[in-house]
Order: sequence, then C-alpha cells, then structure tokens
Amino acid sequence: MSRPSVIIVGSGVGGLALAGMLTRQGCEVVVLERAAERRDGLAITIWPNALRAIRRSGGEDMYEAVLKVCEPIHSARMFSQSRGRLATIDLGFLTHRYGVTGQGATRAELLDALIAQAGVPVRFGAEVDRVGTDGTVVLTDGETLRADLVVGADGVGSTVRRSLLPPGQGDGRENPLESWQGVVDRGGIWDAGGADFHFGPLGTCGIMPLTGNRAYWFVDGSIRTPPTGRGWPDVVRELVAATPPEQLFPGQAWDRRPVRHWGRGRVTLLGDAAHPILPTIGQGACMALEDAGVLAARIAQDPDPVNALRRYEDDRYPRVEGHFKKARGMLRMRGLPGAVRDRVLAVLPDRTITRMFTDSALPLPEFS
Ligand SMILES: Cc1cc2nc3c(=O)[nH]c(=O)nc-3n(C[C@H](O)[C@H](O)[C@H](O)COP(=O)(O)OP(=O)(O)OC[C@H]3O[C@@H](n4cnc5c(N)ncnc54)[C@H](O)[C@@H]3O)c2cc1C
Repeated sequence: MSRPSVIIVGSGVGGLALAGMLTRQGCEVVVLERAAERRDGLAITIWPNALRAIRRSGGEDMYEAVLKVCEPIHSARMFSQSRGRLATIDLGFLTHRYGVTGQGATRAELLDALIAQAGVPVRFGAEVDRVGTDGTVVLTDGETLRADLVVGADGVGSTVRRSLLPPGQGDGRENPLESWQGVVDRGGIWDAGGADFHFGPLGTCGIMPLTGNRAYWFVDGSIRTPPTGRGWPDVVRELVAATPPEQLFPGQAWDRRPVRHWGRGRVTLLGDAAHPILPTIGQGACMALEDAGVLAARIAQDPDPVNALRRYEDDRYPRVEGHFKKARGMLRMRGLPGAVRDRVLAVLPDRTITRMFTDSALPLPEFS
C-alpha cells in the first residue's frame, strides 16, 4: 500500500509525536513551525494515557526516549492551608496496571526528545498563512506546498482551523486562566517523591518532581505580577525564592467546547488546535499525544487517507469532550469556597479521590 504524504503545521508535542509515528510507517512528512527555534518554557505532567499512545503508535524507541526526560510521580498529596493534609493518593496502581505512572518533564526537554524521534528535520521559521481542503498549504512568504493530508497541530490560535471556518468566525477562547511556573533545583527544600497540591485563599498551587533533582511549581495568579510566594505555604515560598529568573514562566490557558467535525477534505486538526482544555487536570498535551496516536493508527489502518481523517475525528470526539468537561469540573471544584472544598476533600474516601484524580489519565482501550 503506498503511504500518504503529510504536512504537519506546528512542532508542539502533538505535531512532533505525530511526525515520528508517521515516518515510522513510511509516510513522507514535512513539519512546518513558525518559531525560529524550539520553544522553551513551562513544565508539564504526562500521564499513562499519553505514554501508552506513544508506545503503541511510536514504538518502544520513542517511548523510551520520552521516558528518559521524565521523572515519575508515585503519589499525590493534597493540603489545605487551614486544615493541613486532606488526602494522599497512591499512584502505584498505574505502574502495576500500565507499566508506567504519571511523569513530570520540562517542555523544552520533551520537545528535544520528540524532535530527535521525528524522523525528519523541523522546518523552523516556516509560518503557514492558510490551507486549502485539497491539501494546499500557503506560507506567509508565498511558498506553496501540497500533500495528500494536512494536519493543523498549530495550537490554540490555529491558523489551519481558521482556514476551515466560515468567514467571521473567530478563535472563541473561553475561561482564561493565568498562573506562574518555575523550574528549580529542589535541593533540601522539597523531596516528596510525588506531587503536592495546596489549596488556599489565593487559589491552587502544585509542586511536581523533575529529573536531575529539580522540581517545578505553579501558583495561580495574574501573569502581570511576578510571584513572590507570599500567601502560600513555606515550602512554596522557598521554592519561588530559589528559582532563577530565567526559569520563571508565565502560563496562560483557555478552553473551547469541542465540535464534532473539526476537519474537512484533506485537512484535520490535532491537540489544542482542535480542542484546547484547561490545565486543571494536566491533560491538554496528553490529549494532543493521544490524538497523534489515534490519527497515526487510523492512517495505518485505512487505505483511503481522507477516510482515515474522518474516522480519527469521529473516534476522538467523545474522548476529548469528556476531558473538556472534567477539566471544567475541576475548575469548579477549585473555585468552591475554601471551607466547603476542604470539608468535601477531607470526608471523601481516598478511593474516591484517587478515581477523581486519575480517571482522565487511564489509557484508551486500544492502547491499554
Ligand atoms: C500553565 C499550563 C500548564 C499546563 N500543564 C499541562 C500538563 O501538566 N499536562 C498536559 O498534558 N498539558 C498541560 N498543559 C496544556 C498543554 O501545554 C497544551 O495542551 C499542549 O502544549 C498542546 O500541544 P499542541 O501540540 O496541540 O500545541 P502547541 O504546544 O501550542 O504547539 C503549537 C505549535 O504550532 C506553532 N504554530 C502556531 N501557528 C503556526 C503557523 N501559522 N505556522 C506554523 N507553526 C505555527 C507554534 O509556534 C507551536 O510551536 C498546560 C498548559 C498551560 C498553559
């Protein structure tokens, strides 16, 4: 069977993972990225659902390369600033069932690992202006390319998505959420072996482990004012104070209710371009990686590449809609008055909290 040619717009986690999965199938792949070089910034958690998708559609070598830049998260503790520890979740069952638990990684190191696995060089400095449903891609400098398939993996403000929309329809970003993140040598400051979440009057903050005895932390708050750590527990204040300025990153997130049909003709979308969700369940990048795994599988299975795109969109819709709702639900939980939220978390059995916390991280049946 001859393999389709594919242009991927965007070299975020989703676009890069897809590139590696498709080059392994023998597809001719071009990756276009508007940035002049690989982006830095923010750290993320990656969960078994995404890692199993990488392993199935990208193979052992891609999976191992990703794990090399990840630090396992074996447990998660939740604290309230007024009531102390509310819950401890043992994540050991994920390793037992799926061979892997949640992981912390810096975005830069994860992108480097995926670039090395992509099988083709990324064309940096190549900004897409518009695409056509016949597989035409026009860059802002006028260059025109064509492929059997075009995948818009170009993030929340997707140009590819805009090309598919009727005139006048915009970005439609909702629920803006701002936070700060830092990557820091955790030294003698924090050593939990898992993740910690603190709920307090200023919102939520979290600390996760990273490789090389580092940690990343996030605190809710406006990105106009750099964080001081004031108003958060001592450990957070110390981590914030120890963070070098170049390792401090503002984070902005939005969501948008997913639509059932997000592609047309030879074009589809992937990751945030199709369905941005809030970071409250740590699953946006995981959904992009799962998208890549499912899209690569449909392209491998279906002799008609355009049909493969439609099957991918049909299969992904219920999953991403479910995660979109869970992420909004978690936002509502975080926003409850402190006394109510703390009482609920304190009385719920650990089993129920574990399910709430890990439900979104369980692999799809086809990858488990
Ligand atoms: C504060 C914060 C914390 C988060 N934490 C987590 C977490 O713990 N776990 C998790 O799974 N997710 C997390 N996320 C979500 C995650 O970052 C995103 O869902 C993920 O990065 C989406 O990946 P993507 O590949 O779809 O798009 P992106 O990473 O946005 O990549 C899109 C790429 O396309 C390029 N591009 C854009 N337009 C064009 C164009 N016209 N031409 C060419 N290239 C273009 C961009 O430069 C970019 O490189 C978090 C997000 C935020 C904001």
